[in-house]
Amino acid sequence: MRVYNTLSKKKEEFVPLEKGKVKMYVCGPTVYNYIHIGNARPMIVFDTVRRYMEYKGYEVNFVSNFTDVDDKIIKKAVEEGVSAQEISERYMKECKKDMADMNVKPATTHPLATQEIDGMLEMISILIDKGFAYPAADGTVYFRTRKFADYGKLSHKNLDDLQAGHREIKVTGEEKEDSLDFVLWKPKKDGEPYWESPWCQGRPGWHIECSVMAKKYLGEEIDIHAGGEDLIFPHHENEIAQSEACSGKIFAKYWLHNGFLNIDNKKMSKSVGNFFTVREIGEKYDLQVLRFFMLSAHYRSPLNFSAELMEAAKNGLERICNASENLKHLSQNAELLSMTEEEAKLWKDSDLFVNKFESAMDDDFNTADAVSAVFELVKYCNTLAKESSSREFLDNLYQRMEQLCTILGIIIEKSEQILDQEIEDLIAERQAARKDKNFARADEIREILLEKGIILEDTREGVKWKRA
Ligand code: AMP
Ligand code: ZN
Repeated sequence: MRVYNTLSKKKEEFVPLEKGKVKMYVCGPTVYNYIHIGNARPMIVFDTVRRYMEYKGYEVNFVSNFTDVDDKIIKKAVEEGVSAQEISERYMKECKKDMADMNVKPATTHPLATQEIDGMLEMISILIDKGFAYPAADGTVYFRTRKFADYGKLSHKNLDDLQAGHREIKVTGEEKEDSLDFVLWKPKKDGEPYWESPWCQGRPGWHIECSVMAKKYLGEEIDIHAGGEDLIFPHHENEIAQSEACSGKIFAKYWLHNGFLNIDNKKMSKSVGNFFTVREIGEKYDLQVLRFFMLSAHYRSPLNFSAELMEAAKNGLERICNASENLKHLSQNAELLSMTEEEAKLWKDSDLFVNKFESAMDDDFNTADAVSAVFELVKYCNTLAKESSSREFLDNLYQRMEQLCTILGIIIEKSEQILDQEIEDLIAERQAARKDKNFARADEIREILLEKGIILEDTREGVKWKRA
């Protein structure tokens, strides 16, 4: 298996630190709102990496944090007049729901920054003792960037270039020794959550959280560290500096970064407002479609989100589900139980698609090509599965399809869940039927919805619906 390592800028053979085991850390979201579909990209692609590693027989210890203390959370809490904890707990819960709907497996551990403050105080103290950090007069603790000789090795940045950039935006009154130094601990401001520390009442900087959580749940040396490409600098560069200065060991062997998700070929950003939440997309599509759409591109390529591409993903997914359903249906009615000699040969020939799938995934998780291999298998099944086929042959093909799709996190059994949009469409059709005095059709629609667990209520303000 070869993986592209941002550290070396090359594809490298994957050799785990410990045979048969993978220790993997993925930076998780800051929970101050519903997650957007950009945040969903690392969740989906690295969940797929994990699933493939597990398929290959590795035991994967997968850790992904929630950043539950941050300026954006505090700002939202002030706007709503509630506590920061209320905001982070609310959106963490919503995020977990979105993850489940996208069939992203829960991590082995999902640590929360606010529960790991002791570890952060400890790491900061070690860094101060070793001369890699220092407290300023106001209680802020800074990392002494120039003391860490390898600084810049991940982002391939040169310290002097960085310094030149910094000089222009230097804030007067800062108590840093050097403009490159970054914050490990900062003093509280009025009304903000804070913790006691030897330096001041305050809270941690963002970068130290991940160094500490990775160390606690995976150890000082890990196999894979991953996240979106915007995190390479400064977040991951700073994580390396903190962790390696503290332990004297190489923090992560492979650094994997996903490309950005754009909308209409423009960078998706909350400030510009050109973003969709996963929840919004979930009202129009089964979130399996979003997952399938994400996997149709290589994880390192930029990916453009558009209605056409989502429709294409929906159709593609349907082709896979229909072929699987057909196999299942034929199997239920098959008379012949065991494979014929000819079928045994055809079954063996279908190894080709598994080989293609594996070669694609072994080449830096090329899910786009892996999906093509699944489509080839779909075509093969559609051509060869017949009413006269044996049950064994049909079941084997079904299991093969299911196995490959499960690695991609795609569920091939059609979801019975009715989407909000479909409900709205049926309600509109019922209203039109009533207007035309076609009460039979109106009643029929009420029944269809009831069977799917949707209860309609005719009120003065119009039709309301709820899930039973
Ligand atoms: P944040 O909550 O902003 O820290 O982001 C959580 C994760 O989502 C990080 O790994 C980011 O790199 C990733 N991310 C944010 N926006 C996008 C985007 N538009 N495309 C791909 N990944 C993104
Ligand atoms: Zn992180």
